[in-house]
Amino acid sequence: MTDLKLMAELVDAFGVPSEEEEIAKLMKEKLAKMGYKTSIDRIGNVIARSPKAGAHPVMFAAHMDEIGLMVKFITDKGFLRFIKIGGIDNRVLINQRVIVKTEKGKIYGVIGHKPPHLQKKGAESRVPETKDLFIDLGAKSRKEVEKLGIRIGTPVGFDMPLRSLQNGKISAKALDDRVGCYCLLKLAQKAMGLDVVLVGSVQEEVSVFAKGAALSAWNVHPRYFVAVDTSIAGDHPEISEEDVSGVALDKGPVITLVEAASTGNVADRLLRNLVMDVAKKAKIAYQLEVVEGGGTDASTVYNLHGGIPSIAICVPARYIHSNVGVCALKDIEKTNELLLRLAQELDRG
Ligand SMILES: [Zn+2]
Repeated sequence: MTDLKLMAELVDAFGVPSEEEEIAKLMKEKLAKMGYKTSIDRIGNVIARSPKAGAHPVMFAAHMDEIGLMVKFITDKGFLRFIKIGGIDNRVLINQRVIVKTEKGKIYGVIGHKPPHLQKKGAESRVPETKDLFIDLGAKSRKEVEKLGIRIGTPVGFDMPLRSLQNGKISAKALDDRVGCYCLLKLAQKAMGLDVVLVGSVQEEVSVFAKGAALSAWNVHPRYFVAVDTSIAGDHPEISEEDVSGVALDKGPVITLVEAASTGNVADRLLRNLVMDVAKKAKIAYQLEVVEGGGTDASTVYNLHGGIPSIAICVPARYIHSNVGVCALKDIEKTNELLLRLAQELDRG
């Protein structure tokens, strides 16, 4: 059974790239409580070593950051102009509720837009540029906004809490990759006796170099690396099966063979075969994918220390890189099962 209370806690936590403190604190607390030796490094990664972790443990990493925005300018009348942090389609920004995170706390706002009554003919088919969009806090002046603790560089996230949908589906912001964080915590409960290190990484969404994971993997120097992330499910009217290697919800974890048309990670051959064997033996249905655009934390780690065998195991998700995603609980459960079996198998060698 998926722990929806824990999932809600994870997706609600704030974690726009480079501003991951809230989700990092949550992850660290939960891992420490289970008995892992935890730390947060200078860039913000959460590192949790099991009591059995040796010099070169098996590393499982899920990125904690979520796509978001950052304040670029405060207008005289108290509206916020912003930049995007991570890949976001501007069409999903219009009229969204957002959370502005200051040192003093969270402030709520809305991305404003002209109603259709006032738009020029044909304007509705045009995608607005980021520079034309703004956040409305209900404030009246720059002074008032500054008093709230908002300044240039203040991060902004989406305000979209967890809701259950039909047939064991859930929707929320940041499922990419809080679902991975959830899987990491579930793995942690059962991997105390294994030679593993679990890492909540930062700044995955803003770099093909997966900055946080690369730095932590350099320091940890694992013998294997497994990125736990989300991949795009195509089983809805807008995406054909052919576009996404047939990846769909409810069909189990996805083993990513090639990322970013092979400019990202190419799953290590032996590790790839091992993961498929482990899944077959455990009778866990899985999906395979090769991805043209987009990568995971594995994209950089494979290249460190003369080569660390790396692979990404993903939970399929709809609508990632928007303000809301959809995942299936069944896939999350099956991914957990596969990760545990894999951790047990890799513990032997
Ligand atoms: Zn991701």
